[in-house]
This record gives sequence, structure tokens and C-alpha cells, in this order.
Amino acid sequence: MDQFKNYIYNILLEPSIKSELEYFVQEFEKNPTAYDFLVDNPQGVQENYKEGYIGLSQRYAKAQQMLKKKFPGNTHLIQFQHQLYELGTFYLNWQAFLPTIQMLGTPEQVKHWQDLTFNYQIRGAYAQTEVGHGSDVQGLQTTAVFENNSFIINTPKASAFKFWPGQLGIFATHSVLQARTTVNGKDIGIQTFVVPIREPKTLKALEGVDVGDIGPKLGFLRADNGYLGLKNVRIDRNNMLMRYTKVDESGQVTTSSKNAIKYGYGSMLNLRVGLVNVFSIFGLFTNNLAYYQVKPLLKTQSIENEAIIFRLLRSYVVQYAQIIANAQVKEMFTRFQNQLKANDKQVNETLQLVHLYSSQMKSIAGWEAVKTSREAMQIAPFGHLNASDLTIIYADNVPFVTYEGDNNVLMQQTAQYLLKQFGKVSGGNAQFTGMASYFNKYTQENNQKASFQNLEEVLERLSYSFCKKTVENFQNNLINGHSIQTSWNELNQCELIKASVLFGYTNIYKQMGAQIKSSGYSLELLKIHKLFGLFLILENRTTIISFGIADFKQVEILAEIDQQFSGNNKLEFLDYLANGVGMYRQRNFINIDWDKLNLKARL
Ligand SMILES: Cc1cc2nc3c(=O)[nH]c(=O)nc-3n(C[C@H](O)[C@H](O)[C@H](O)COP(=O)(O)OP(=O)(O)OC[C@H]3O[C@@H](n4cnc5c(N)ncnc54)[C@H](O)[C@@H]3O)c2cc1C
Repeated sequence: MDQFKNYIYNILLEPSIKSELEYFVQEFEKNPTAYDFLVDNPQGVQENYKEGYIGLSQRYAKAQQMLKKKFPGNTHLIQFQHQLYELGTFYLNWQAFLPTIQMLGTPEQVKHWQDLTFNYQIRGAYAQTEVGHGSDVQGLQTTAVFENNSFIINTPKASAFKFWPGQLGIFATHSVLQARTTVNGKDIGIQTFVVPIREPKTLKALEGVDVGDIGPKLGFLRADNGYLGLKNVRIDRNNMLMRYTKVDESGQVTTSSKNAIKYGYGSMLNLRVGLVNVFSIFGLFTNNLAYYQVKPLLKTQSIENEAIIFRLLRSYVVQYAQIIANAQVKEMFTRFQNQLKANDKQVNETLQLVHLYSSQMKSIAGWEAVKTSREAMQIAPFGHLNASDLTIIYADNVPFVTYEGDNNVLMQQTAQYLLKQFGKVSGGNAQFTGMASYFNKYTQENNQKASFQNLEEVLERLSYSFCKKTVENFQNNLINGHSIQTSWNELNQCELIKASVLFGYTNIYKQMGAQIKSSGYSLELLKIHKLFGLFLILENRTTIISFGIADFKQVEILAEIDQQFSGNNKLEFLDYLANGVGMYRQRNFINIDWDKLNLKARL
């Protein structure tokens, strides 16, 4: 069993983080009480936030020092710890504020802000969304105007107030902030700035800054989501992040090539790739909670258990499929970085792949985490009671579908890609390429019946047929005189998103297969892969039949999940899957007994 846990552990953790964690575990086991300083109590901190904030910063600084001694240079553990076991109070400091600076700042700017952040002298938020603008970044209304070697930042109207950013409510001393920027009367687009907003020692808002908490919300109890309005706030010219667009003292603007800008934003996709794992782990936590709570009843057969086992099984299989497939996307991201360094011509193609895979997988993993936790609340005997822990984690999972790119908006990028691919091929001379290249196998065939020995083929045909039909419907609307805008927004949007989702699930199945192939087969991994394929087929059976890919009987026989198990070994397999990660409260995923870290302080 531990083999599976190790497999998942190795997939999830970067080697550098792994060695830090292992060191931490070793030291902790020698002397558990020495690490009490790591325990934070964010709710307590929020009640008495000034003292709490300072105490917390000191504790984290101490932990960081301990790790620095052993691992000179920057350490990831504290950063990672938040990501791993909860959406902690300072999650965005590490996962959005600092990475944005690292990606968009010049080397000098990165050093400056990174040192301050790592030394806990400042703590940052990421303020993009405004009351009136979320997905539509180009519509942002916060303004930055260049004047006397500075920028003057303003919130010109109520709809331009920054709204939602985590840590803005109480803790952030600074924020990265996007604003429409004007230099010497010329609009130079949306730029990103580091804006001081509170005095670090007292946390008092600076002059011209209207900042506070947005109030009670669903989930994210430990996060102080906030609002921010700015009135004539003057910041130094150097607070604009200038890796790609530079403004000099005289207001001269120089912009890197379009490609350089594209690669810069491409580097930020790493965050999205990381989120797929976070969402999947949270999905697994909820499933484990439900499974362990209902397990005693399943064992005694005191309830009708078939449907429960089936739902738990599906959730486990989907979440692991995402994690395993995502390892391939992580590798693609590393390839992108290496190609960028080596000036390799393939870099554009790799970036497009990372972009599409990560946006599909972020969306699917977000939807699946919500679905899994909703199911888990129904399955666990007291799932709707706060004491079950499920209500809390469910509430945390719900916004996964909205932040870091609304799922329905992200999925339309795949829809655009599919339209382009089919458009290219309809001319007759070109072939499908990139992630759609498997479509080439099916273009010439009249008989769409799949070989049922091969689940990948069934899914590929399903994906191809559905995407093709959707694109044809879109093109027919254009032929019938509708504009692109009407066809997209009013006539075909739902189907385009649906086709993209199906394409996305098929990609996860394929990438999971590729990862298992590259990292060594095991019977259990192959079984999870097969079950994932079967669940997808089962859920799309009417579409499969309507496209003539298989008839009703074939699909029914194929999708008989029970055939994969004999006797009672479905329960054994659930145990096996549950063991891949730990529990939410115990947070034993990384083999640390978090309860010994005085977790009572958190409850
Ligand atoms: C818990 C939480 C934490 C957050 N943290 C941060 C943070 O730290 N920093 C930050 O800047 N923001 C943060 N946000 C904001 C989040 O990023 C935005 O809510 C998100 O980008 C969506 O924007 P919006 O709310 O304005 O919705 P909109 O973009 O207006 O979308 C509303 C609805 O319209 C649909 N829609 C929008 N555009 C299209 C389109 N072109 N086609 C079809 N449908 C469309 C969407 O699918 C959605 O259903 C957070 C949000 C939440 C819930």
C-alpha cells in the first residue's frame, strides 16, 4: 500500500521540496515540541490581528532560518506547507504576490521584493479583480498615470474598486495590482505594480488607501478577502514591474518583443499547473473523510452500499487520474523553460500545449473537487454537520471553479483552439496537429464503430465526433448569415464548452496513460486508469451510442464496473485508494503527525 502513497508523493513533490520536508520530518521526530512555533492560529490572529500578525511573522521567520541553515538559498517549506494542508491565511503571499513579482519583475526588482518577503518584513496580496471586472482583464478601470518619475494610482469609480483579493482584508502590507497605465498621455495598456497599502508594524492603512475586509463568505474562513480603493496614491516609478515593459525617468517606454511578453505570462502558468494538484488533493481529502466516516456501516452491511461504493470509487479514480496526468503537464512546463533558455524553436508549440492542458485541467479539477465534496457530504452519515469537517472543506472547494480563471471562460480557449484546428483541416491540405493530432486517425472513416478492447480509442472517437459535430454546427450558423459573435455568444457557446470539456477529459485519460508508461507500470495504476476510462464511457454512453461508436449492448457490457472486481475486493481497493493521501485534519499526507503539533489551537 505504501508503494502507492510513495508514488503519489513522488509525483506531487519537487525534489527540492521533498528533501526539505524529509529533513523537517526527521528533526520533528527527534524533538516534536521544538516545532510548536510553527503552529499558527489564524482565527485567533484575525481576532487580535496586530499582535497575531507580528507573532506569526516571527514564528515563520524562525522556521525559515532553521531551514536556511540546512538548505542555503530560498526554501519552499513554509510556502508549500500552506498549499499542502489548508488554504491558509498567507497562501496568496506565497502563491500569487511573490510569484507575480518573480515572473514580471527585473532581476533587481525580484531581489528587492523577494528579500523583504522572505524576511517577513512585508506580506502581499494579488489585486486584479474589480467590482465590475473579473474575467475581462482588459476592461480594468484602476488607473496609473506617470508623473515626475512616479505613478499616481487612482480608483476612479465604484466599479473600479479592487474586490475579492485574499489578504487584502487585514494582513497585506503591499499588493501587486493591475491598472490601466498612461505615460505622457499615451495608454500603454494594463501594467502590474507593487503598491504599499499598510504600515507594516501597525497595519494602519496608508494615506489615500481605503482598504478592508469584504465580510462573511462561503468558505475560506482563514482568508481575509478584501476591497481596495486608491486616491492619488503616489508610488515610485520602480514599483512598476518592468521585465517586459520599461518606463524610464523621462517617460520613454520600451517594450520587449511580443514573444518575450508571451513567454513571461507563460511562465505564470506554473501556478495553474500547481492548482490542479491542490484541487485534486482537496478532492481526495473530502473523499477520505466520507469514506472513513461511512466505512463502519459498509463493513456491517447495515446500509445499501452499492451506490455509495460506486460513487466513492469514481471520485478517487478521477482525482488520482488528474494528479497522475498533471505530472506530464509539469514535465511539459519544464520542457518549455528549457527550450526558452536554449532558444529552441519548439518553444511556442510547447507553451501552447501547457496553456491548453493547464486551463482544461484547472477547470475539470475545480469542477470535480466541488462534485466530490458535495457527494462526500451526502455519503458521510453526518456530512452536513460541521463536526464532520466536510462542510468546511466543501465550502473551501466551491470557489475553485471561479478564481484563477472562471472555468467556463477558460474552457472557451480550448473551443477557440478546436475551431482553428478544424478550420485548418477543412481546406483539405492540412492535418490536425498538437493535442488534436489523434483526430487524424478518424477523419477518413465512415464506420465509426470502435474496437472495444481499447478504451483510449473509444474515448478518442467520442471526443473527435463530438468536437466535429459542434464545430460543424458553428460553421453552419456562419453560413446561414449569423455573425461570429452571435454564433459564439448566443447560439453555440454551451455546446462549444461541452465539446471542450469532453476533449479535456480525453486528454487527461491519454496523459495519465503516458505518465504510467513513463514512470513504470503497476497493476493498480493500470486498474485506476482503466476505471477512469470506464467511468468516462459510462457517463457519456448516450452520446457514444448516438454517434454510432457503439451500440447500447456493447456500451452496457463494457461499462460494467463490477467486472473489474471479484467478491468484496471493491472495499479493499477503496482502502488502497484512500491510503494514497492522508486526512484533512490530521494532515498526515507528508507523514507528519500534525495532531502532535498541537492542532487544538486551530479548531
Ligand atoms: C474565494 C475567492 C478568492 C479570490 N481571490 C482573488 C484574489 O486573490 N485576487 C483577485 O484579483 N481576484 C480574486 N478573486 C476573484 C476571481 O478571480 C474572480 O471572481 C473571477 O476572475 C471571476 O470574475 P468575476 O467574479 O468578475 O465574474 P465574471 O468574470 O463577471 O463572470 C461572471 C459569470 O459570467 C461568465 N462569463 C464571464 N465572461 C464570460 C465569457 N466571455 N463567456 C461566457 N461566460 C462568461 C462566467 O462564467 C461567470 O459565470 C477571488 C474570488 C473568490 C471567489
